[in-house]
Amino acid sequence: MARITLRQLLDHAAEYGYGVPAFNINNMEQGLAILEAADAADAPVIIQASRGARSYANDIVLKHLIDALAEMYPHIPICMHQDHGNNEATCATAIQYGFTSVMMDGSLKADAKTPADYDYNVRVTRNVVDMAHWVGASVEGELGVLGSLETGMGEKEDGHGFEGKLGHDQLLTDPDQAVEFVKATEVDALAIAMGTSHGAYKFTRKPDGDVLAMNVIEEIHRRLPNTHLVMHGSSSVPQELQDIINQYGGQMPQTWGVPVEEIQRGIKHGVRKINIDTDNRMAMTGAIRKVFAENPGEFDPRKYLKPAMEAMRAVCKQRFEEFGTAGYASKIRPLPMSAMAKRYASGELAPKIGLTRQAAE
Ligand SMILES: [Zn+2]
Repeated sequence: MARITLRQLLDHAAEYGYGVPAFNINNMEQGLAILEAADAADAPVIIQASRGARSYANDIVLKHLIDALAEMYPHIPICMHQDHGNNEATCATAIQYGFTSVMMDGSLKADAKTPADYDYNVRVTRNVVDMAHWVGASVEGELGVLGSLETGMGEKEDGHGFEGKLGHDQLLTDPDQAVEFVKATEVDALAIAMGTSHGAYKFTRKPDGDVLAMNVIEEIHRRLPNTHLVMHGSSSVPQELQDIINQYGGQMPQTWGVPVEEIQRGIKHGVRKINIDTDNRMAMTGAIRKVFAENPGEFDPRKYLKPAMEAMRAVCKQRFEEFGTAGYASKIRPLPMSAMAKRYASGELAPKIGLTRQAAE
């Protein structure tokens, strides 16, 4: 079985200069669509489940679903990742159910909506890093609170995200603090806040530097050239998917996501994991609406779930190609978590700070 840790996968991505999309999963159809796309593109994948997904699908169903996907596609390295863990227990139980990687989002308190202070964030993240690294699992941390620079508002998604208004100091990750945070926590990957938010309604216009602060990524990458950066809320919300939904009875107000070329710019500056959920949700919804509109008498779920899977597969495959992930699945030999645990214990995976990438190797 080719299950891989986030750390090994992103180290490989950094070495070869590509990014890896992280697609959210809630059900079998999404799992099949992601793996069919990965297979067609020869791409390694990150599949992630939020707390909402774990309670929707049930941990046991998810565990066996991922086992099934790994058995069907033994040649595709699959990283199974906890999206936005809210406390240590969520991360620990994820690993118990076969996840190879967890996100400890200490930018918010355990209620997943109250912005937390820096010391709290360091403490919970460090706890999770210790626990995860003992067993070889990887950890993504987050510094800065995700939310819109246009409105200062958070986008509550899946029960996660702050409510209310924040200032730019909290909505933009501070590059100097990022160095301290990585040093103190030893996270494998760092999610940063730079104007992206969850859901479909990210921007009210095509984003520019005022609302999508790509310069923050470049600044952090300059200081932390060996840390893998993560972009959350990075669906592109393509116009054609909005149009299909609205053409077939949907009512989505006009909105803009993160342009693919901005993500590609991020990949040149250390972004290795790119979280995408909305685009896949929209692809599935548009395909289902089309079937319902054209065949109102249809009542066999397979008749609309199959086109939904096909639409999602097309989005996933396109992102594998756009982010440069395509072609690398066959070039990776996944290490078991036990081997990763030994590498952590030896200190060889500790953050290398203040060194250029070359000097660190
Ligand atoms: Zn997120």
